[in-house]
Amino acid sequence: MNEPLAIEAHDLTKTYEDGRIVALDGMSLSVGQGEFVGIVGPSGCGKSTLLHLIAALDRPDSGSLRVAGHDLARERDLSHYRARHIGIVFQLHNLLPSLTAGENVQVPMFELAYRGRERAARARELLGLVGLEGRETHRPTQLSGGERQRVAIARALANDPRILLADEPTGSLDSRAGDQVLDLLETIRAESGTTLVLVSHDPGVAARAQRLVHMLDGRAVDLDDVPIGPETAVAIA
Ligand code: ADP
Repeated sequence: MNEPLAIEAHDLTKTYEDGRIVALDGMSLSVGQGEFVGIVGPSGCGKSTLLHLIAALDRPDSGSLRVAGHDLARERDLSHYRARHIGIVFQLHNLLPSLTAGENVQVPMFELAYRGRERAARARELLGLVGLEGRETHRPTQLSGGERQRVAIARALANDPRILLADEPTGSLDSRAGDQVLDLLETIRAESGTTLVLVSHDPGVAARAQRLVHMLDGRAVDLDDVPIGPETAVAIA
């Protein structure tokens, strides 16, 4: 029997501002369990919107979306779904500045029933996994950009999600720190079998993926089907 897909999106649409802005326009996507898929396309083509829908941070206007066995149109408790199944890493680490690294990593654990001591121990373990052992009590301002992003990855892993979403995770880092973050995401995926969907407008970053999905104007495109004129060449570069 075939394993169920991790993500099945069919014909998703999403508009903003009373339909004036069309962010997704018939986007379909299938991602297998444990697969590493890169989503590429020019700025504004709908990549972040797609990740937000998968993370249930927002709802589609139409279309179907099934993630980790959950039909998101019917899911009642979206925050529990997100806490249980989804880890997300953004371009900016979004760490809470007044909390230590360890406390930041513990934040998502409050949604699930971890006890205080378990939370602290798990945060320590996760910070070790991302190469930040002994830095639990440091605040974000005491860490470099790459280290903050690694704390954000540890936070994304807090609840052992089956699906890890990364939205331009290296966008604010220099190339060396960016490479380390990508190495880390790849290692996590390979060792834990987590499904990884990484969005980037940088083809070099996305080239690490096992499979690339190209987006243009709110939907997936088959590059063979796109007539390559000067404008398209710029749009997909
Ligand atoms: P990408 O991640 O590929 O750069 P986005 O998904 O961020 O693209 O955006 C797709 C389109 O939707 C863009 O035109 C963007 O300006 C618009 N958009 C995204 N989020 C919002 C929002 N919250 N309100 C209004 N427009 C938005």
